[in-house]
Amino acid sequence: MLSRRKLLKKLGTLPLVGGVLGAGIPLSAVKAETMVAAPKRNVIKELGLRSFVNAAGTYTAMTASLMPDEVIQTINFTSDHYIMLDEVQDKVGEKIAELCHAEYATVTAGCWSAMVLGTAGVLTGKDRKKISQLPDLTGMKSQVIVQKSHNTGYVHALTNTGVEIVEVETAADVDRAVNSKTAMMWFLNYQAPSGKIQHEEWIALAKKHGLPTMIDMAADVPPVENLWKYNDLGFDLVCVSGGKAIRGPQSAGILMGRRDLVEAARLSAPPRGGTIGRGMKVNKEEILGMYVALDTYIKKDHDKEWKEWEDKIALISDAVSDIEGVSTEVSVPPIANHTPYLEIGWDTGKINIDQGELRKRLREGSPSIEVISGGDNAVKLTVFMLRPKEEKIVAKRIAEELLKAKV
Ligand SMILES: *Cc1c(COP(=O)(O)O)cnc(C)c1O
Repeated sequence: MLSRRKLLKKLGTLPLVGGVLGAGIPLSAVKAETMVAAPKRNVIKELGLRSFVNAAGTYTAMTASLMPDEVIQTINFTSDHYIMLDEVQDKVGEKIAELCHAEYATVTAGCWSAMVLGTAGVLTGKDRKKISQLPDLTGMKSQVIVQKSHNTGYVHALTNTGVEIVEVETAADVDRAVNSKTAMMWFLNYQAPSGKIQHEEWIALAKKHGLPTMIDMAADVPPVENLWKYNDLGFDLVCVSGGKAIRGPQSAGILMGRRDLVEAARLSAPPRGGTIGRGMKVNKEEILGMYVALDTYIKKDHDKEWKEWEDKIALISDAVSDIEGVSTEVSVPPIANHTPYLEIGWDTGKINIDQGELRKRLREGSPSIEVISGGDNAVKLTVFMLRPKEEKIVAKRIAEELLKAKV
């Protein structure tokens, strides 16, 4: 088993004072580096809100990601100026398109609204009457073809516009499914491995039938190249989340692709009203913040960042792996949240706690920490959403709680 001394050595820089590892160990010296100093009015404190160390990932419920300094500064600076909303979208759309090899782009209220607005654009084109009529599809096409394994809850973004989903499995199914009502063929990138038709063939089938294609690649950077890969492949519309790994505003996303379709999609979005997208407003601060987040993300040293993630995962793994009955495993999801994950599992004969209780103790500790379940006797965590130095806090707290639960 891991002796206290050994654990101390492993956690090297951590100030573990007091008796046996346990409650009451001050964490002051391993305080994470926050990017923003507390203002005079600290609303987190004032409202008694729980802020936490996010070792779970980019979950919407956990507010997903934190914006880097460049983005915060952009938001603060532009918030003191009036600019015409369409002019912001025009300029930012050109810049994002250039960065991602698309004809055109627009900032939306998340990947979800990119899909709603993109589908609306496909259905209505620039016909104002049709735009005001959605989701009533009288006089418009009304079906979107989706592979069976891609037909998940995310298709609700499409059906918001009034379309129905037509499921297919094979290329022959696609040929049979296409009819005069078919508007588009949609592809859910993270489900690609479980579908029978891959990207290139999907696009080729759509071309054969003269149909536009849309891909949902919401959480599918890294790798950064995915930001242009699907435009280069020939998808007509590409939808991405802004507030996941790109670390733009949580409520922003990108719709990019064919100029005519993106322009049509914008006609359903603010500042125009009387449209299906009027509630999907993105303010100028978020639009410009999204642009700067994307630009910053693309330009960063991705190899260096990956190495930092691996080092942090190794630090946490080292802190717990010598505890008797504990085993760790590193994995990287092939698509979506493609970053290193650490699974920490234990033998309940030696460590008497289940994952729910461990997560509860981490959540209720100080600082509060969120990790995810890895099964009954395991938790899983990732480090790409941690602030600097927080990996040490995570390592120390998990080691502490596992040791406390030793039989
Ligand atoms: C997160 C996600 C969405 C929604 O994206 P938002 O940016 O939160 O609107 C859509 N599709 C997939 C696959 C996602 O992971």
